[in-house]
Amino acid sequence: MLIVENLVKHFPVAQPFWDMLRRRPLNVIRAVDGVSFSVARGEVLAIVGESGCGKTTIARTLIGLEEQTAGTILFDGQSVGTAERRARAGMVPLESGQVGTREQQTLPRMSLKHLRQHAQMIFQDPYESLNPRATIFEIVAEPLVVHGLARKREERIARVKSALEDAGLRPAEDYFLRYPHELSGGQRQRVVIAGAMVLRPQLLIADEPVSMLDVSIRAEILNLLRDLQKSLGVGIVFITHDLSTVAYFADRIAVMYLGRIVESGLTAEVLQNPQHPYTKALLSVAPVPNPRLRRERIILQGETPNPANIPSGCRFHPRCPVAVDACKLTDPGYVPVSETHQAACFLVAPR
Ligand code: SF4
Repeated sequence: MLIVENLVKHFPVAQPFWDMLRRRPLNVIRAVDGVSFSVARGEVLAIVGESGCGKTTIARTLIGLEEQTAGTILFDGQSVGTAERRARAGMVPLESGQVGTREQQTLPRMSLKHLRQHAQMIFQDPYESLNPRATIFEIVAEPLVVHGLARKREERIARVKSALEDAGLRPAEDYFLRYPHELSGGQRQRVVIAGAMVLRPQLLIADEPVSMLDVSIRAEILNLLRDLQKSLGVGIVFITHDLSTVAYFADRIAVMYLGRIVESGLTAEVLQNPQHPYTKALLSVAPVPNPRLRRERIILQGETPNPANIPSGCRFHPRCPVAVDACKLTDPGYVPVSETHQAACFLVAPR
């Protein structure tokens, strides 16, 4: 359903006036730096990594809220992405990189409006993502109005009612005339999910959907997403920094570090047999629900490097506890661990 190839998103950094006069090259923050993955229909892909690794930028680029610098996004065989469209139309030169292969450039294109009808985003903060001056009915019905669906009022009421009930807000009519401030955090996130599901999308992009909620309601929201995925066959890109939720929720995992995917594979394979030192470090500090099971904690030294100044060679080498000399010079490619598992590290033994 979704194929992302070599996605790049760079943000230019404001330059001092004297640097501009001297025509010094523009500095860029390399938030996403060549990421490829795919999501099948009805599949859950978790993108995991610490803050600042580029997860949210990927989500915003997929849904067209950011313009990709380079790379290809294909949704249902059709090309999406604003930078690509504008570059093809000759409106803007791309800063760097390729805009897909020649073959991909001839693929049919999908409009942003059409994309948003089939792919919806759930934002992290349910307190910020709802209009405080609109009723719950108006909020959930708005996507239908924007996309010109369910034009008759009775149809609209039926669609909103069904979306709210699917999201676990029953009886739905009790919520129609309420405002977001009258709801709890968990109920607000359910309204956000109802607003996303009212269009019956094929893909949900959930950006840390439970991180702002109390621990007691996190499981409820995850169960709800899992039920929607199973009953409606919706694919989910689940973005999180919390590995403990991933085991429960995702079919596949992609672990990101500093704008790149460093390890990916089926959830069970990656969690039971992690290969990349960064994945091992993340897993070593994830809580386990068994007090007798003690893991050796791997505490990484130092801060995540500045994405405007990516280290040479393997970008993880300044913090890697097992780095060797070659790591400073050469960027490791992906090594297949199994047919469904790969990691980018020199120390991984190939299959
Ligand atoms: Fe560590 Fe080297 Fe592997 Fe990078 S390539 S993760 S620095 S061992």
